[in-house]
Amino acid sequence: MAVTSTTMTLLFSATIASAQTLRIVATTTDLASLARSVTGEAAQVDVMIPPGTDPEAFEPRPSDLAKLRGASVLVRVGLGYDHWLDKLLMMHGDAAINRRGAGYVDASVGIPLLEVKGRSLDPASTDAHAHGLANPHYWLDPANAEVMTGAIAEAISGVAPTAAEKVTARRADFLARLKTSLTGWEGVLGPHRGAKLIAYHNTWPYFARRFRLDLVDVIESKEGVAPSPARLAKLASIIREQNVRIIVHEPFAPDDASQLLARRTGAAVLKLAPSVGSVPEASDYVALFEYDVAVLARALSAAPN
Ligand SMILES: [Zn+2]
Repeated sequence: MAVTSTTMTLLFSATIASAQTLRIVATTTDLASLARSVTGEAAQVDVMIPPGTDPEAFEPRPSDLAKLRGASVLVRVGLGYDHWLDKLLMMHGDAAINRRGAGYVDASVGIPLLEVKGRSLDPASTDAHAHGLANPHYWLDPANAEVMTGAIAEAISGVAPTAAEKVTARRADFLARLKTSLTGWEGVLGPHRGAKLIAYHNTWPYFARRFRLDLVDVIESKEGVAPSPARLAKLASIIREQNVRIIVHEPFAPDDASQLLARRTGAAVLKLAPSVGSVPEASDYVALFEYDVAVLARALSAAPN
């Protein structure tokens, strides 16, 4: 009897403890990693788009709706990148993590955006596209982590005030370490300033601007659309004329067009990680840049323009 009672008490305590755990759901691995960096043990962070897959081809399953249950904070990329979330949020119904809820974070708010297409597109429209309002790959400039983590920390303060102090301290520590790392990465890529690159998908404008690289063109004729033979021929002549030595490619994208261009021009195909988890080495937000900067610098040293 005593054993049963103790067991019951333990089970009950465990239920209470898990109900009190701050749970954060992020649509992408990058946002999940940033959320973990500022919360540490203070929160359980779940991600919706599985690592190593193409985020722009993601289609939510019923288990993704279940993931929203009990979430106090929801973090999304916005700009149409995770447009499928709006439907899930409508089904989920909890006002706290819906638009204008205290736990809703659109991490793009306050980011200096590139390739802005205007604000006429309804962000909740069903034909929203992954590159709907502006180029959405803004997490690839480490300097943008300040705005992104700021929004996450603010939402946590709103829904879990007791965690606020700890999160503020962790965030300051994370941003200080990131700033030091960024100086290092700029140093590694410094000798390659202005290096010309062609990319398969239009993933890299923020990264290229931060590290002073020259993104000459994009192979896809439109996001998710393979190039036509005519476009491939044009790209081959651009690569030759401008002496582009590197074709940057996403590990999860079909690589026949990139490989064909490489064979035609002698440029090298380089697989860089566009997100945390795209390659095993990019295990968190800092490791993502460690990997991309090192791989790119090595390739540029081996194939100078
Ligand atoms: Zn994209």
